[in-house]
Amino acid sequence: MTYALKAPARYVQGAGELDRLGRNLKKLGNRFLLIGSDNSWNRFGEHVCRSLEAEEKQVVFGGFCGEATKEEVFSKMDLCKAQSCDGVIGMGGGKALDTAKAVAENLGLPCIIVPTVASNDAPCSGVAVLYNEQGVVVKAVLMRRNPDLVVVDTEIIAKAPVRLFAAGLGDALATWFEARACHKSGARTMARGNVSNTALMMSRLCYDLLMEHGVEALEAVRQHTVTKALEDVVEASIYLSGLGFENGGLAAAHAINDGLAQEPQTHGMYHGEKVAFGVLAQLVLEDAPRDELARVLAFMKQVGLPTTFAELGIQTVNEENLRKAAEAACVPTQSTRNLRESITPEEVYQAMQKADALGRSGL
Ligand SMILES: [Zn+2]
Repeated sequence: MTYALKAPARYVQGAGELDRLGRNLKKLGNRFLLIGSDNSWNRFGEHVCRSLEAEEKQVVFGGFCGEATKEEVFSKMDLCKAQSCDGVIGMGGGKALDTAKAVAENLGLPCIIVPTVASNDAPCSGVAVLYNEQGVVVKAVLMRRNPDLVVVDTEIIAKAPVRLFAAGLGDALATWFEARACHKSGARTMARGNVSNTALMMSRLCYDLLMEHGVEALEAVRQHTVTKALEDVVEASIYLSGLGFENGGLAAAHAINDGLAQEPQTHGMYHGEKVAFGVLAQLVLEDAPRDELARVLAFMKQVGLPTTFAELGIQTVNEENLRKAAEAACVPTQSTRNLRESITPEEVYQAMQKADALGRSGL
């Protein structure tokens, strides 16, 4: 047995933290390339510039094409060198952050991540996912180390779209159940070890914070206000969810999300929304206790996460596509095996059907 843990070197979260970005990255370089969309630059660029200037640091706005492709990574690497930058800042949702991570990794430079939404578990991780022009995943770059600094300004998160925040709750909902499954089966995690007590505890804390404050936090986002509940849940959905999946492992919930790429009707859904449906299916596969299933189902309904095929965007249930999704979730490289080695596509298909039935008519 091996215990292995990985995490960002520093994580800072609070209202107005973007205005203190300069102070936080003071020791990480002098001239930073910022990778982010025009939209995020227009909204937050002034804060970034002001806070870096106060520390006599410089920032070069590098833009972002909208897709984390290899070409985009190479082009930003060239820009970084041409501009003599010695650090990379990624700012935005998912793909700008992936691009920044890959650029920093390839050039061996410090990596600073500033998520502007709390929609997924990626900001703190040491993984950068790259896509082709069509948006299909082509590669996951495993970084030598996780980001040097992650700065989360909860005033910004509180103003982001409610549906994105809810998707983040869905992604975080999977953390505990997947870590628990990996712990039980003895699976290895992305930190290249077994599930440590620390990882298990962090994953459980993630779940408890969601259950206790998730609904209240979502309400705070609706009101665009930063509350204690929001702070606690952002800690869960950005920090604990990220550390949880890398150190606690993935199981059926994330594999089913990946498998759903086989059903085009779900393509408009966010990662965390599909993962949440995957959680329901995983609980069915595990034959989870009735009260646990009821609690998860009630939470998902309260925060507006999809519990049925229809809510996942599947208007016409297509058996062939769903069977393909189940098949894809069970290939040897997928994490469904972390639940149980012998799991079959038929079981996963039946579990998805049962999850949909639970979502439609309850327990
Ligand atoms: Zn995820």
